Amino acid sequence: MKMSNKDSETKLSLLQCSGCGKQYVPPKYLCTACGKTDFTEVFSQGKGEVYSFTIIRMPFEEFVDEAPYAFGEVKLDGSLVVPGRFTNEGEKAVKIGLKVSFVKWDRGVNWFELT
Ligand SMILES: [Zn+2]
Repeated sequence: MKMSNKDSETKLSLLQCSGCGKQYVPPKYLCTACGKTDFTEVFSQGKGEVYSFTIIRMPFEEFVDEAPYAFGEVKLDGSLVVPGRFTNEGEKAVKIGLKVSFVKWDRGVNWFELT
């Protein structure tokens, strides 16, 4: 679960299995590698590249003023894939393979800046 301290809004939050050390995108309740159910929250630099994306034209009500926008997945250095949005996208600016870095956790979404 997300903590309410500042780190959880400015750093990319991941869960690390206390048994084998494998990292996951939250939420995660069972380690598929070793079967343990105990995790600690760790923070990633959030550097990576655009792995996939789609253009959202009919979002949830909270985001309706922002549509259309790109929502996608980022493959972090270290190979974990996390979902997120892009801060300086422009609908056509997002491309698979572009370098991105994490900027914030906001309204339940990881935000990445295209670099
Ligand atoms: Zn494990």
